[in-house]
Formats: sequence, structure tokens, C-alpha cells
Amino acid sequence: MRILITNDDGIAAPGLIALARSLQDLGDITVIAPETQQSAVGHSITLHKPLRLDEVDLGSGITAYSSNGTPADCIILGVLGDLPRPDFVVSGINAGANLGEEVLYSGTVSAALEAALYDIPAVALSVCAYENPILDVAQQIAPPIVKALYEAPLQPGTALNVNIPNVPADEIAGIAVTRLGHRKYADVVVKRDDPQGRPYYWFTGTPMEIDCAPGTDIWAVQQNKISLALVHFDLTSHQEWSGFDKLQSELGLS
Ligand code: MN
Repeated sequence: MRILITNDDGIAAPGLIALARSLQDLGDITVIAPETQQSAVGHSITLHKPLRLDEVDLGSGITAYSSNGTPADCIILGVLGDLPRPDFVVSGINAGANLGEEVLYSGTVSAALEAALYDIPAVALSVCAYENPILDVAQQIAPPIVKALYEAPLQPGTALNVNIPNVPADEIAGIAVTRLGHRKYADVVVKRDDPQGRPYYWFTGTPMEIDCAPGTDIWAVQQNKISLALVHFDLTSHQEWSGFDKLQSELGLS
């Protein structure tokens, strides 16, 4: 099995190397990861500058390249470029949760979804801590998750988003299939003055849970459970919209 590994934290992130090592016994590993921190770039791809792949030495005999592109670019290069097509894509191990609407911003999850668009089984792995994430649990569960998804594939276009509580293995309270919850960030836009006295803005904030009901991914990690959420690119909402008929008649279009 050829496994392509990427992330959004960059080629030097400890989680990337930890993931590659954890999957080495399952098949041939190729790492293609952004050369710099790309967290929260979402699903963006690069159209207006040339992309490069530079071979890097990650040790352990792992074939690895850094790219000046985004996580989704790394997947496109790995799937449609001149390297052998991967049978599986794993993205991570991300430092920081990817819960609820964070999947929209997440380069980690977007890389997995990009692979799913090519019908390649894909999983995103995140540990719920930006600093000092505990990587061993993610390393332990990565190989069985890859095997399970390979034996029982998801439907086309679907990827698996895994969030792991940042606790030692003996404090993990189980594993749950979840749906995406919902949380917003408070105090997001910080305004300060630069040394020249001009204002600048920096996005930050602390999460406020809006929907962390039982069964959501947010709930699961609050319970110290590993969250498995199936995600899909299709953002269609299937609700009926009551304003449509009036709009249609006002436009004179039917
Ligand atoms: Mn990240």
C-alpha cells in the first residue's frame, strides 16, 4: 500500500514525522508537506505561482518532500503529479483540534477532503492541543484506522476526521462516531498599533461552544473520547426556503 502523508503545520512539525513513523509498517510512505506553517489556509490551492517539490531528509528512510504550496496543493502534487498514485492519504498529526466549523478553515481536514475527491481513502488526525500535543495515542490508533478504512471504504467524496483528546493513553475514555458540533470564537479581532503607530489586526479568540450536545465531536473530546466524524465536501443544506416562491415571481422567472 502506498500511503501519502501531509499536514498543515509544515514539514518540520513533530506530528508529521510521528505519523510517518507510525505507518511505516503498513506500506510505502511518501511525505509531501508544506515548507511553512499553513494552519487555517482551508482548501486553498495555488494558481498564480510555480510550485516546487524539494526532497528533504526526515530520517528513518522516509521519502519526503517539502512544497511551497498549501496542504491541498500537496495532495494534488502527490496524486496528479509524477509520483506513483497513493492508495491512501493521512493528514496530520495536527497540533490543535479540528472540531465543528473548524473543518472549514482546516488545512489538515481539507487535505483529506482533497484526496477524497479523487476517491482515495483519507483520514485527518488532530490532537486537541496547540502546544505540547501528546502524540502517542494518535500514533497508536493511526495504523488500525488506516486498515479499517481500507477494508471498509467510505462512500466517494467522504473522509474521516479524527480528533484525539490531549490526554495520556490510560485516560482515553473510548471512541465515538460523531457529527460536527458548532462553536464560535469570542474576542476574535485584536487591534494594536505597530511600532510606526499604524494599527494592525490579528485574529485570535477563545472558543465558545454553541452546539456540544451528546453525539457531537466537541462533546466527544470533552468526554475524553476519540471523535470519528465522517466529512464530505457537499455543503448543500436540504432545508426548504420559504422566500423562494416570492423571489421567483418578483423576478418573473420560473
Ligand atoms: Mn495545523
